[in-house]
Amino acid sequence: MNAAERLRYSRQILFPGIGEQGQEALLASHAVVVGCGALGSFQASALARAGVGRLTIIDRDYVEPSNLHRQWLFEESDAAEWLPKASAAARRIAAINSAVEVRGIVADLTARNAEELLSTTALILDGTDNFEARYLMNDFAVSRGIPWIYGAAVGSYGLAMPVIPGHTACLRCVYPDPPAGVQPTCETAGVLNVIISAVASIQVADALKILCGGASQVQPRITTMDLWNGGIRQIAAPARDLDCPTCGRREFSYLEERRRPPVTLCGRNAVQVQERERPLDLADLRERLAPLGDVRANEFALRFRVEPYEMTIFPDGRAIVKGTNDEGVARSLYARYVGN
Ligand SMILES: [Zn+2]
Repeated sequence: MNAAERLRYSRQILFPGIGEQGQEALLASHAVVVGCGALGSFQASALARAGVGRLTIIDRDYVEPSNLHRQWLFEESDAAEWLPKASAAARRIAAINSAVEVRGIVADLTARNAEELLSTTALILDGTDNFEARYLMNDFAVSRGIPWIYGAAVGSYGLAMPVIPGHTACLRCVYPDPPAGVQPTCETAGVLNVIISAVASIQVADALKILCGGASQVQPRITTMDLWNGGIRQIAAPARDLDCPTCGRREFSYLEERRRPPVTLCGRNAVQVQERERPLDLADLRERLAPLGDVRANEFALRFRVEPYEMTIFPDGRAIVKGTNDEGVARSLYARYVGN
């Protein structure tokens, strides 16, 4: 550590839980934030301020005005410029701490790219909003022995749970299957902004312990909170289920899923389509679509409005079709305007 770093992190070094050795470890560490919406943008900001040396931020979405009340890294200009969250986050992180080597990845985490995006990290932070992604992270983390920290929030309620492979219960020990039926989401049930920072803070505290002291420092417990109606509880996480398909039998079905079906973005009247990796030239597509409807594009994405739908198309071939929950309609629009 040089003199400037020693000064910058002096109050954190004074904290006995971290100390000089912990700070050195943080500066040399790499963490991945999967999903940079509300939870993820707080996590990324806190880790950058703490001096984590390398940060990878993965997000498939773009900044919208309705994100700004709870997504701490973003500003009005990000929504006006219609930036992908991963790019806007990387830019803001560079302004917060220019020494952090930050990589913003505009992509959907899938079984196909998990190895490439997650294999070099010491820690994965859950900033996602869906179980599909969490089971995939759980499979990958358990298969490689990488700690990850689950977190979720909606309304005024939230929870957090660290998963230390081989030591604590994994996500599927606690929730063997994804929840059935319609689930409340921030889009349908609303969300209090401070539950986000509260849950993300619990996640980041465990992350810092793991990165600077080792996973054995982390208590296997589940924290639940309701910041409006009161009540913060911490309970011991259940013991590992030896018959758990993931950490017991080591069957990684989410990771082995090679073909990803279209995904409905619950509660948002939107469907994500990606049949396969198919790089697109957005400038070319923009020219083709210009006579057919309102089209805008930058290097990160193309937005095409054809009433009553709106398609956002990314350079990797992925598209988000707004205005429908019907996968067939989304596929059809994709086929009609992008081609497949
Ligand atoms: Zn398990």
